[in-house]
Amino acid sequence: MRSIRHYLCLATLVAKVTCDAVVDGKLSFYTSSWESWDENVARWSAYEAPTFSAIFKPETEGELSQGIEYLARHKIPYLATKPGGHGNVPTLGTYQNVVQINLDNFRHAVVNPDHSITIGGGAKMVDLIPTLHAAGREMTVGSFPCVGVHGVMLGGGMGRLMGRYGLISDALLRAKVALWNGTIIEASEKVNSDMFWGLRGAGHNLGVVVESTYKTWPDEGGLHYNADMVFTDDSVHGVVETARNIIEAGLDPSLFLILGYVYGAEAKKPLLIVNIVYAHDEEEGRKMAQRFASSPKDATNPITRLSFRETNMDFSELGSGKAIPGVCDVNLKNTLYTASTPTLFDADAMKAVYESFGSFVREHPGANRSILLFEAASGQAMESLPQDYSAYAHRGKMTTNAIIQATWDEDLDGSVANAANAWGKGARDLLAKPEVSGYDKLYAYVNYANKDEPLAALYGYDKEHQQRLTSLKQKYDPHAFFNAYRPLPLEISGWDLPASSKASQSDRDEL
Ligand SMILES: Cc1cc2nc3c(=O)[nH]c(=O)nc-3n(C[C@H](O)[C@H](O)[C@H](O)COP(=O)(O)OP(=O)(O)OC[C@H]3O[C@@H](n4cnc5c(N)ncnc54)[C@H](O)[C@@H]3O)c2cc1C
Repeated sequence: MRSIRHYLCLATLVAKVTCDAVVDGKLSFYTSSWESWDENVARWSAYEAPTFSAIFKPETEGELSQGIEYLARHKIPYLATKPGGHGNVPTLGTYQNVVQINLDNFRHAVVNPDHSITIGGGAKMVDLIPTLHAAGREMTVGSFPCVGVHGVMLGGGMGRLMGRYGLISDALLRAKVALWNGTIIEASEKVNSDMFWGLRGAGHNLGVVVESTYKTWPDEGGLHYNADMVFTDDSVHGVVETARNIIEAGLDPSLFLILGYVYGAEAKKPLLIVNIVYAHDEEEGRKMAQRFASSPKDATNPITRLSFRETNMDFSELGSGKAIPGVCDVNLKNTLYTASTPTLFDADAMKAVYESFGSFVREHPGANRSILLFEAASGQAMESLPQDYSAYAHRGKMTTNAIIQATWDEDLDGSVANAANAWGKGARDLLAKPEVSGYDKLYAYVNYANKDEPLAALYGYDKEHQQRLTSLKQKYDPHAFFNAYRPLPLEISGWDLPASSKASQSDRDEL
């Protein structure tokens, strides 16, 4: 590894920096001539993505600290990430030709004697989940192995088992964070508790998490029941009504329910699907799946189930991503929109988004990996915590989240991107209408967000909450180094600006 390192003068990368500042060659920066460059700069989404002028790949905490201090001192913008980073909020794309702080050497995952787990800042779900499983422990985890744990956790962290254990960030016990100038601090309830609060929901804005430690729960044994079902198009009213009944009765904390559309390549149209995952109890899971069984044709809202596949999986398979093959592929183009609803699904709105989804893919066949899904899980564990437990602002608001994801490959003239955004935004706006969503305004999960939502829709409408977040930003990121991910405003007035005029990379000129 060391033999292919390029000990470079940063002057070749960022013209305004002088050569002698390269910390005596102790820090290594790779340029695009590095043979592993392409795989390290690959992104899950190549659309509105960050680009890099160099890669800084520290091997130790000390190196990480020194490197950040160096970059900050020379006003060189940077972004902490790892190969195949899944972050796709379009504000990441305002970070062009920045230095990548590559956290791939920080992927450790260790279960401690007190059963907590400590993971490195670059860990992915594939590092976390098997380690937990081997120790007979579990916690809320994401559904796909390739996703970074910290990118997920810092926005809140939804996933499998959240009905039981709450958000991933709800289980955070402590973190070690490198600040914008390389200083490393601890954050927990006892030390730097303001940073600890902010990390859990608005954490992309405040520093680089070197490592973090979480509470875990015993794996009570037994497999997790999984059912994948496909329905006829005209089952939409019956399926939606069934899902609504399940949700309105109070979602079972052991259930994770997904309902929506994936594009059927053979059928050449979106297919109405339901996926049920029920924790640790095959019998209860099967009962839940049974509620979506085909009904008599003369029922008021009939259901015709075209296919039904049951599997049982252990905890390590919950995050294996097998349900959607290819979901971890990198360098495709994606644009996401999202909206939350309390309990409602609206069948007419579902039909309308089905139609618009179908037209979008018919006109742009290269976008046939697009999806439109509603994820629903009990808020019981999340809501057992006080509203101001962490910076995550939507406790009790996100029982059901729509994920509207347009995915495409080639786009020579930008027309697919335009159509993708028109479809995604149109579907989001329809689903967020008060009469459809059941909310008087938009509530959106920052990790599924685009760039046009008001900041308050992502981080909270409460003015005191906004003031607290802005004060944190002023204290911990006064020069706006961490502005890639739907940045918090440094001034309270920034909360009322239209989304497009938010501060970004350019704020660092004030350093
Ligand atoms: C296929 C797929 C599956 C997903 N599944 C889920 C899911 O189950 N639950 C869920 O809640 N969300 C999920 N998401 C959304 C996900 O939370 C965001 O896309 C998230 O930004 C991905 O983080 P990452 O670390 O992979 O990406 P990156 O691009 O590496 O990072 C995203 C942002 O986080 C910052 N960041 C990353 N690591 C650190 C660190 N150690 N310290 C400080 N900042 C850091 C980066 O600087 C960047 O601003 C999914 C997304 C995709 C594409």
